[in-house]
Amino acid sequence: MKQTIKLFVFNRLALIFTMMILILTGISIGYLYNVNQVFYENKYEEQVSNFEWVMSEWLKSGHQELAYLRENFNYQGGEVKEQYLPLQQLWSKKQNRFDYIFIANKQGDYITSKNMQSKNIADRTYFQEAMKGNEFTSEMVASRLTNNDMMVLSASLYDSQHRLSGVFAGAIELSSLTEQMAPFQLGDKYVRAYIVDQKGYVGSVLTSADYSHKEKAVRDIGKPIETVLSLSESLKGNKGKINQSHEMIYYEDIESGYGWKVVLVVSNAALYEGMSTQLLLIFIIAVALLVVVYRLSRSIADEMVKPVEQLNDAFDDMMGRSRFVRKMDFKLLEMDELFHKFEKTREEINRLTYQDPLTNLTNITFFRYHLQKMLNESLDRLVSQYVLVFLEIDHFKVINDTFGFSGGDAVLKHIASWLRERDDVLDVSKMNGDEFAFLVNHEWGVLRVYEIREALNQMLSEGIDYMGSRIMVSASFGVTHFYDEDTSAESCFQNAYIALNEAKKEGSASLEVFNQRLKSRVTRRVMLEMSMRTALDENEMYPVYQPIIGVDGQSVQGYESLIRWDSKAHGFVAPNEFIPIAEDSKFIVQIGRWMINKTLNDLKALKEINGDHIYLSLNASSIEFEERGFAEFLMEQATHFGHQPIDIIVELTERVMMVEKPEVQANIQKLIEFGFRLSLDDFGTGYSSLSYLLKYPFSVVKIDRSFVANTHERSAQDLLEVMRLIAEKYTLKTVAEGVETLEQAERIKGIGFHYGQGYFYGKPMKLEDIK
Ligand code: C2E
Ligand code: CA
Ligand code: CA
Repeated sequence: MKQTIKLFVFNRLALIFTMMILILTGISIGYLYNVNQVFYENKYEEQVSNFEWVMSEWLKSGHQELAYLRENFNYQGGEVKEQYLPLQQLWSKKQNRFDYIFIANKQGDYITSKNMQSKNIADRTYFQEAMKGNEFTSEMVASRLTNNDMMVLSASLYDSQHRLSGVFAGAIELSSLTEQMAPFQLGDKYVRAYIVDQKGYVGSVLTSADYSHKEKAVRDIGKPIETVLSLSESLKGNKGKINQSHEMIYYEDIESGYGWKVVLVVSNAALYEGMSTQLLLIFIIAVALLVVVYRLSRSIADEMVKPVEQLNDAFDDMMGRSRFVRKMDFKLLEMDELFHKFEKTREEINRLTYQDPLTNLTNITFFRYHLQKMLNESLDRLVSQYVLVFLEIDHFKVINDTFGFSGGDAVLKHIASWLRERDDVLDVSKMNGDEFAFLVNHEWGVLRVYEIREALNQMLSEGIDYMGSRIMVSASFGVTHFYDEDTSAESCFQNAYIALNEAKKEGSASLEVFNQRLKSRVTRRVMLEMSMRTALDENEMYPVYQPIIGVDGQSVQGYESLIRWDSKAHGFVAPNEFIPIAEDSKFIVQIGRWMINKTLNDLKALKEINGDHIYLSLNASSIEFEERGFAEFLMEQATHFGHQPIDIIVELTERVMMVEKPEVQANIQKLIEFGFRLSLDDFGTGYSSLSYLLKYPFSVVKIDRSFVANTHERSAQDLLEVMRLIAEKYTLKTVAEGVETLEQAERIKGIGFHYGQGYFYGKPMKLEDIK
């Protein structure tokens, strides 16, 4: 009787358990859906802005390339047919973006570098915009020559009298645009991307290699995006997302893309696929739990029916077999010992290969192995569940230098034990030198890594006790998600390193999260850096000279030398892009010396053309100033080519003066002693330039082109006025940079600047083109 009651109660309990399991399963599925959705949203939002960035960089460098080509083209107006040869000559150089270039006269008759045939393009917006003096990127247009769809970048051309003489343009067929965009990895078979023109027509489609409706997607080129995506209205605003029943649409305006947009379409299947294995897991766990509850209720019920008998039986059984059991025990003990020994040796070996002796953490070999194993077993799990974190101690070398290696060791140990204590720091390992690596659960998000950084740097800010003194340190963090395409531990490491390096650039205790943008930037940097090494020997670099002219527009005062790099591998690379890279690698020192030698030689010819009074203005970066002997080298070269120091102006920016190294000051001091003149470049762009003006006896100040470009605005005019007053007070000569139009030239003359420099007066030219 009593037992039946118990049984009844137990069955009830089993029922309640069953219900709870079912409810929990429901909740987990709901939660899972939410977590996944947030994850995917973030992922694709990041992806669309990466793509936007790639496109905008691409367009910007397209215009940059056009500017260089335009710089080298003189068109005085009139019959365009005669321009075929120069155009073709300019074109015969290897370019990497345009399919062809062309010019049009003011009436819209045009000629291309490919084909002499000429029709009229006066009705095209890119022509009209360029005729208004604007730089422009056209909507998708059908070529009048080949009928292929293309995109046209255009800008105005001026004759030698600075009158608008026509339009210069570069055409890119959309098929080659698609080709050039192909390296941008979509990496996901549920995603496709569109590039859409300012009128909303699809210009290019990108899909991953295994996208199933690839051909259909390509047929969408040329159609309105609303039709392609069955939208009820056009894409509003410059950024947004639209939730369709079976897909998500993300879109964004391309920065300086003249109205072009990128659109990313993600099928909801992407979300469900990510979830399916997780769902299966929950399902299996639920079924397993149900089975357990069922078995438990059965077995306990059985035991309640005949508990005593079974116990007796079992007891008898054991007594009968007891001798045998004891014998077995003995053998087992021996085995156990052997096994134990084996285990110990193995542990020792493991310890030696996989452990860092200083911190007792696992080492880089282990971490790499461990991560690779996880990647092999379940990439999906890594992708969705973890982020990888690299941590590096800031200025570790200084600590070693100040406190000795044992001081450095103390810091490493301290941080190691702190990391080990934290529950959210998983698999922490000691990497090379002063680095640590670990995983953090992705559900806590990157925010958790920020918290870890806060906590660590908080702890470190109190200092680490070491032999009676306190060592103050901080640490920087590089974080990366795992990506589908990164299937080797090494490439995950690389991503984390990229992020870490970016963080270190920002200063101490920083944190940076990896993204595709950083990667393409780093890849291009590395490629450029490698190509640069041979560029001087291969004659890919050369100087051009831009005249600096009195505001009357007549007299050439001097020339600024500017470097050009026409790379066989990368086409034209702008100095603004490669000079910072050369500075990082210090290769700029070689480039700078090469330029000094080359341009001081050319200065003889420039003097022959313009008279002995002209000067050469040359750019030097802070790294060159840090190099001992810079001033002496310049002096030696000047003497060698027979120039007076006063003929040479060295342009320096505020960045040079911000470096507080004795070499920099010594070099500047020597330049002044030798009698070279100094010019302050890009004036007005920094925040402390005023104080710098007083630091050294400058002869010239160059007003940055951003002020000149906006001369029509009242506020810019006021600023220019103030700058002129300052220059006057310190009796400096003023040069206005980037003067492009007659209007700007008249303004700066009106304000009272001495000299002007810019396309209006003269483009940067090769020596042989200067007459
Ligand atoms: P920067 O010293 O301010 O040089 C002036 C820049 O403005 C040059 O760009 C020039 O081509 C451009 N420019 C001149 N007139 C006009 C105009 O009317 N409109 C427009 N939109 N631009 C105009 P570039 O040659 O691309 O050089 C960029 C920067 O790279 C230079 O800025 C300079 O800081 C650096 N750089 C160039 N050559 C050298 C070099 O030989 N050594 C070093 N250290 N730096 C250099
Ligand atoms: Ca300059
Ligand atoms: Ca400048």
